[in-house]
Amino acid sequence: MSIKVPDQTVEELKTFVVEELPDLRIVYKDEEGWYRGSFSAWVVYLFVTAVGLFDRDWKSFFYERYSNGIGNLLVFPNRQEYSDWSDPRTYKIVCHEVVHMCDWKRHPIWFPLSYVALLPSILTMRAYWEFRGYTGTMLAYYRVHGEVGDPVLDFIQDTFTGSMYFFMFPFPKTIRRMLEETRIKVENGDIVGFNLRE
Ligand SMILES: [Zn+2]
Repeated sequence: MSIKVPDQTVEELKTFVVEELPDLRIVYKDEEGWYRGSFSAWVVYLFVTAVGLFDRDWKSFFYERYSNGIGNLLVFPNRQEYSDWSDPRTYKIVCHEVVHMCDWKRHPIWFPLSYVALLPSILTMRAYWEFRGYTGTMLAYYRVHGEVGDPVLDFIQDTFTGSMYFFMFPFPKTIRRMLEETRIKVENGDIVGFNLRE
């Protein structure tokens, strides 16, 4: 780990979580029964287990690489690498997932339905919710590095247009313009908190 997130920046995130998501629990996928605290996490667990029968690589990817905000559970791949929020990677993940968890809390029926619906993603609101999540990611980059560099926008653009989220928004020029507009807001301090108040 090369740089650390300043203590005060981590404390601000923890304060936000305590105030806005007081029920949040952190669990780790390498620990037995990580999904037991939430009905939605049970559903995800069963789904991943079923798909894993056919696609072991995808299941490994889910377990070893993906973090998720599921209802009130913040789910990391493992405790060893992801328990320190001053690690920039973990900090950025938390900033992304708490946006989803705030949206889920505010729209307890609509968020999971419109996000997870197993339709081609162009027919769901997944891209809308993920754009909010990645706005959290941009806020994290800004707080850690003092800027949101072009490689960050490249990476997010690829995420929207590529296979990782099933081509959820295959319009590179449009997503780029939206990301650049949001970067200006982030860098000007126009977005406050991870519920993304403007
Ligand atoms: Zn997300």
